[in-house]
Amino acid sequence: MTLAKRIEFGLFNAAKAVSKISYPLSWEKLEIDENRSLWASYTPDYKPSASLKGNDTADLCIIGGGYTGMSTAYHFSERYPDKRVVLLEAKSLANGASGRNGGMMLNWIYGTGPMSDEMTGRVYASTSQTIDGIEQIIKKHGLNVSYRRDGCFEVFTDEERAMEAKAEVEHLNSIGVPIKFLDAANVRKKISLNGIHGGLFDPSEGQLNGVQYIRGLRPVLEARGVQFYENSRVTKISEGETIEVETPNGLVRAKNIVLALNGYTGKLGYFRKSFFPLHSHVFSTPPLSAEQSKKVGWHGSAGFSDDLNRISYATKTNEGHVVFGGGSNISYGYLFNNRTAFPGSPGSATAAFDDMQNTMGQYLTGTGTMQRAHQWTGTLAISIRRNCSIGVRGDHKNVYYALGYSGHGVTAANMAGKIITDIYSDNEDEWRGMPFINAPFSPIPLEPFRWMGYQMMTKLTGKSPREPHR
Ligand SMILES: Cc1cc2nc3c(=O)[nH]c(=O)nc-3n(C[C@H](O)[C@H](O)[C@H](O)COP(=O)(O)OP(=O)(O)OC[C@H]3O[C@@H](n4cnc5c(N)ncnc54)[C@H](O)[C@@H]3O)c2cc1C
Repeated sequence: MTLAKRIEFGLFNAAKAVSKISYPLSWEKLEIDENRSLWASYTPDYKPSASLKGNDTADLCIIGGGYTGMSTAYHFSERYPDKRVVLLEAKSLANGASGRNGGMMLNWIYGTGPMSDEMTGRVYASTSQTIDGIEQIIKKHGLNVSYRRDGCFEVFTDEERAMEAKAEVEHLNSIGVPIKFLDAANVRKKISLNGIHGGLFDPSEGQLNGVQYIRGLRPVLEARGVQFYENSRVTKISEGETIEVETPNGLVRAKNIVLALNGYTGKLGYFRKSFFPLHSHVFSTPPLSAEQSKKVGWHGSAGFSDDLNRISYATKTNEGHVVFGGGSNISYGYLFNNRTAFPGSPGSATAAFDDMQNTMGQYLTGTGTMQRAHQWTGTLAISIRRNCSIGVRGDHKNVYYALGYSGHGVTAANMAGKIITDIYSDNEDEWRGMPFINAPFSPIPLEPFRWMGYQMMTKLTGKSPREPHR
């Protein structure tokens, strides 16, 4: 075993040993900063709905206005037009990760572990149908959303990994998954990436502006009777047959609730040991002219991600911006006490953005010194096995949840609303046995061990904490 692997195992076992120690939630606070992303700049005139003042009631009260919350509101209100749905959002819709991400709309669910061929096919089909569903929703409701669906790459920076992927594609094709392997020269015909040995190309993937999508859906859902309260931060949840959901100026009494909070879930006392609220940095270039795009070599396809631990990912918008995330140890960070806002963001994080842009410049000729138009950070839930979990809990089986997408949640969180609606309807056949339904999370110790473990792991190995495989 290599030294790095030994360190990983040692730290992981130490973490397991201290994960039973608890720590009061009252020591933590919820911080939610402004969404300064490129995506948010497309809706400058957005007016949030009024905040909750007084009391309300609901059959389903959704907490959180990102993809998880909106997809639940969409599917639930479609199936149950007569039930009252209330959505509470602490700031404005799409203020969280859904409005700050890299925009990659990808197949697969992270952290599922090895699966049978049958399950592999089912998981792929569920995510590709979700991507189709997003496009259908945009078209059906005439939403003004910038998106593209001309495929994404996963590229390999190592010859051996590229060859393994090539062999895997043949098998995936044999079970009906339509992914292609392209050698480096053929990848470059679409995106001229340096330092790669080939890539997997999935033609059904794409890119989505989450802020336009989520905010554009609000009037559609309001027309169905969904009640939105923005700037309505939930401060306390009291479970029971009827659940009381408190905000600073009002209360919702609900038969069922949905925790649609991903990286913020722990702040309400749920899933505290299940994930790190990780801060991830992203920036965008100004729109590239046709001539600049040609020079950079971005000819076609929505985006790419690489195969490294500190994953780099990039997309290009229809308007010509290149959006780049990750690619550096300091582009991902965990802050003591599960902080959910990056302090001073984005100005104080210049070193991280410089480092990231250096990586971008290595992949894409001529981009390393380009001006940055927007730079921002976002908070996501990253679990130690990189798995998400979608299900229902509580003595009265009326607390629905979906979280832990681990940086791969654009499609999964949009799927979560359909799954939650199906679980509510006792119509779970489509999801039965799927590895993310009510999936357990491996525990991560609370503070101060959490912060110490994260620092040691990232400093000693340059990697993000992850349950090691032997
Ligand atoms: C920088 C970054 C890049 C990413 N890139 C990609 C990518 O390219 N592709 C991909 O597939 N995935 C990506 N992801 C992951 C993906 O964006 C998330 O998994 C997904 O958006 C999670 O959606 P959500 O609705 O569950 O959570 P969120 O979008 O975070 O929504 C949670 C909402 O809850 C609200 N909230 C929090 N606390 C309270 C409270 N107490 N009361 C009321 N409301 C509250 C928040 O304001 C927020 O709006 C990225 C994430 C980040 C941060």
